[in-house]
Amino acid sequence: MFANRVKQIAPSPTLALGAKVRAMRAQGKDVISFAMGEPDFPTPEPICEEAIRAIREGFTHYTDSRGTLELREEISRKLLEENHIHASPDQIVVSCGAKHALFNALMAICNPGDEVILLAPCWMTYREQAILAGAVPVVVETPAQNQYLPVFEDIQRAITPRTKAIIINSPCNPTGAVFPRNTLKEIASLALRHGFFIISDEIYEKHIYDGNSHTSIASLSQEVAKQTITINGVSKSFAMTGWRIGYASAPLDIAEAMATIQDQVTSNPSGISQKAALAALRLDSKLIHKMLQDFDSRRCFMAEELASVSGAKFCLPKGAFYIFAEFDGAIGNKIKNDIELVNYLLENYEVACIPGSVFEGPGKLRLTYALPHEQIREGIQRLSEGIRSLN
Ligand code: PLP
Repeated sequence: MFANRVKQIAPSPTLALGAKVRAMRAQGKDVISFAMGEPDFPTPEPICEEAIRAIREGFTHYTDSRGTLELREEISRKLLEENHIHASPDQIVVSCGAKHALFNALMAICNPGDEVILLAPCWMTYREQAILAGAVPVVVETPAQNQYLPVFEDIQRAITPRTKAIIINSPCNPTGAVFPRNTLKEIASLALRHGFFIISDEIYEKHIYDGNSHTSIASLSQEVAKQTITINGVSKSFAMTGWRIGYASAPLDIAEAMATIQDQVTSNPSGISQKAALAALRLDSKLIHKMLQDFDSRRCFMAEELASVSGAKFCLPKGAFYIFAEFDGAIGNKIKNDIELVNYLLENYEVACIPGSVFEGPGKLRLTYALPHEQIREGIQRLSEGIRSLN
């Protein structure tokens, strides 16, 4: 009955788990969730005010399909000043979230049978969207003992004449890895030598800790920029996940192709949200700085609490807002895999995590630290009891 493509992809397990948590809460259960992938802070007031003003002033109609010129000019400025990427407003397409921008990118460049290299563990949407675009995902592991950074030779081995693109995500969901400049240079050198695209998902660029800094791969040189599609958005940096504004900057012909696809699928993302995104990009950075400091303190706190859980092993994340951990001894006789472990913890200890297999990292769990200290303490205590009960 359904098209074959439906059978090839899975619904988002993160969203499904979120629905299960909501249902348990509706039954009066006090679930602590380390599952969600969004900041728990409210969207800053000046951003909300701008959206309200847009509605009051009647900014409620279609805009340019690829986003208003005003917003694309602001993104162009932001990319130049913060990321050292030269992209004119024509090279920018504003979409319904970074997820949509990524989909446009894959749809614009992939033909059936093209290969897209993914660096795992990685956000599950990369695989599913590559398949929807007719491409074949090729997974290259980033080893935990290498701080989840890719090994040059491993990427090299995965390249074939059909390689169309590599997707990179630094800071990384779920591992928190931040790619150093040298790693980016290595990836860029392979893309230039073999002529494939780099899709660089930089949605967590502001969530970066311990003095590490974010480098946009498109800033390495003009040649690299000509083969790079940079994906970003306001969801994570400005606590705006529900507003659905993401964007891509790309070489002009690719941006045109992405805009044409968007023309025929969604038209413009919400004009009101575009006004809000404009306010976000112009926001006093102090407002964001405070949120980021809180994330850093929660990161350290969760790492300390987690270290006392029996058998816990993890790398302290350098970016994003997740800890990717495994628990020696938890998976074995009673519990067969990470999915069973997540269900066991949720049903018996009312604490929710995401199974690592969702990110091509089986046997591990992803825990978000985007929640207040007291909840982190209580949640880790529950997790600890759950894990102990299995040892
Ligand atoms: N990229 C990564 C790595 C993510 O983790 C997410 C959201 O979880 C997104 C992109 C999607 O961002 P948006 O909400 O702007 O679609």
